Amino acid sequence: MLMKGKKGVVLGIANKRSIAYGIAKACREQGAEMAITYLNDKFQKKLAPIAQELGCEERLYPCDVTKAEEIAALKESLEKDFGKIDFIVHSIAFAPKEGLSGRFVNISKDAFNIAMDISVYSLIEVVQKLKPILSNNSSVLTLSYYGGVKYIPNYNLMGVAKAALEMSVRYLAEDLGKEGIRVNAISAGPIKTLAAAGIGDFSFMLKWNAAHSPLKKNVTIQEVGNSGMYLLSDLSSAVTGEIHYVDNGFNIMGMPAVEFDENGKPTIAWNGE
Ligand code: NAP
Repeated sequence: MLMKGKKGVVLGIANKRSIAYGIAKACREQGAEMAITYLNDKFQKKLAPIAQELGCEERLYPCDVTKAEEIAALKESLEKDFGKIDFIVHSIAFAPKEGLSGRFVNISKDAFNIAMDISVYSLIEVVQKLKPILSNNSSVLTLSYYGGVKYIPNYNLMGVAKAALEMSVRYLAEDLGKEGIRVNAISAGPIKTLAAAGIGDFSFMLKWNAAHSPLKKNVTIQEVGNSGMYLLSDLSSAVTGEIHYVDNGFNIMGMPAVEFDENGKPTIAWNGE
């Protein structure tokens, strides 16, 4: 039981397809105790059965990260439940639809600020507010995507947000290391979730990744969950500030592997078929 005795909080479970659910489940299976959060009343009911499955039906708390008072209230609740906590999973992102398709040059300041607030600053603020109850052997995990490093069609504004998120991971890791707090990100391959549905041509992205990654498949939330559990457990006690790719190796590719037919013509699987 790699997470026995570990207590923490998971932000960002919308449903059983959420990456955060995969991570929470893997942690629970390894003995962790946790609280989970929901965005608003609409999601509270939906999350109740998931909370029960994760053994935390008594620890299901509201937390809209745009509301500082809800983050502060979350800290109070966690302190009452656990005293100190050992891990935080931040699996939250949002950008207005206009930022996830169309021309990048047209992105408005409002859309930019919303995406940066919810997808980047929320990591800093959650850690800042929960820091007094983080143990001196704790681990914070957030979720990123390759579109924060290289151009990905339609990822647009979220690409800028993920670049800022990844840099925040490094600065937080340095700042908090002396207090025994590790901070890492998983850069996951594309997975069909609620958040992903907002990205233009997402199903093509899935096909492209499966066709052109070394392992020739898409990533599951179980796979991200297992890697997340490793980063939250003591197995990764010397790992911090890291952006860990869980993407079937897609990020190492500079060009798709080319095969040739009997006539010597390249048969690049351009659309995954
Ligand atoms: P998801 O299931 O839709 O999870 C996104 C979560 O963010 C939801 O629980 C959503 O809450 C929450 N959220 C949005 N605005 C919020 C706010 N103001 N306050 C609190 N929570 C808020 O999608 P997901 O794909 O698992 O996304 C989780 C993370 O993984 C995101 O950072 C995403 O960018 C990242 N990621 C996803 C992929 C992918 O392909 N799916 C790949 C790499 C990285 P509600 O649903 O209740 O609105």
